[in-house]
Amino acid sequence: MNNATSGGPGRIAGNGAVVARAPAKVNVHLQAGPLRPDGFHELRTVYLAVSLFDTVTARPGDGLSLGLRGEGSASGRGPASVPSDRRNIVWQAAELLARHAGITADAHLEIDKSIPAAAGLAGGSADAAATLVALDALWGTRATRGDLAGLAAQLGSDVPFSLLGGVALGTGRGEQLFPVLARRRWDWVLGIAGEGLSTPTVYAELDTLRAEGRVGPVAAGHAGDAAEPVIAALRSGPASALAATLDNDLQAAALRLRPELRRALAAAGEAGARAALLSGSGPTVAALAEDEDAAVKLAATLAGAGVFRTVRAVHGPVPGARLVG
Ligand code: C5P
Repeated sequence: MNNATSGGPGRIAGNGAVVARAPAKVNVHLQAGPLRPDGFHELRTVYLAVSLFDTVTARPGDGLSLGLRGEGSASGRGPASVPSDRRNIVWQAAELLARHAGITADAHLEIDKSIPAAAGLAGGSADAAATLVALDALWGTRATRGDLAGLAAQLGSDVPFSLLGGVALGTGRGEQLFPVLARRRWDWVLGIAGEGLSTPTVYAELDTLRAEGRVGPVAAGHAGDAAEPVIAALRSGPASALAATLDNDLQAAALRLRPELRRALAAAGEAGARAALLSGSGPTVAALAEDEDAAVKLAATLAGAGVFRTVRAVHGPVPGARLVG
């Protein structure tokens, strides 16, 4: 496979900096199977990459160092929750790529975060994917897209999709991807809550709900493919068809942990959304709009509704992690 990601060392700016960005995602369909022995749930999910991006700037350095700006950083918006040391997935991404290439991990990384942390939007995964792309170019490691996808899967279930972007069916724990061609643009409003939700906690709550018999049994082997109608609707619309098929198994679990999210979902409906669901493990509300104008109006109404910390109008599909500048 060609080295389609880095574009080669020619993309390195004069000051030695390489910049990459990666998008947030919304799961327009998420069917969680049983808990596997490895601690993950078998998934059948449809990912849509949307136009909210984190940016990673990589510069030559001596050893690894990391700076954070924006969402989740000590100086930025939202609760400060993102570590700037080796606990950060970006650090792990850098070490993994260096090990893969047989070199030492020397770089200074700056993360500009627009994607809120612990929001169900794969913000950490976007950072990891952008880091792989930026460092591949900075270090001239010439990893193929296939190499990077393999490294991405080691970093987290959503990282391969952050790398790929667009629309894709995800199976396994979400890391096995089948790209889907969507012929139209989809407009959404993301309603971001004040406090994040931990993904493992939400999955554990789903197991509890199932053990208590409060939500239906696990779909047997995902034989009946509930993702098909979503994929068909995503390909060509109309919005009413997509609205009718949106579905997320994690929503019941997130709502039990955060009952006030019911009000947030209802607010999206009252404000004119075609439909609304939680993205991934939440707590972000993804509200589907008819078109761009409707999304701008919906965002304005929801910003005034007092149920969200931040409201963002976005669209998708957009490409996965790419060099910029
Ligand atoms: O892969 P990632 O690091 O994003 O997963 C975080 C946690 O979310 C896992 O440790 C697991 O508890 C839960 N998870 C899961 N099933 C998946 C993906 C994630 O149970 N398919």
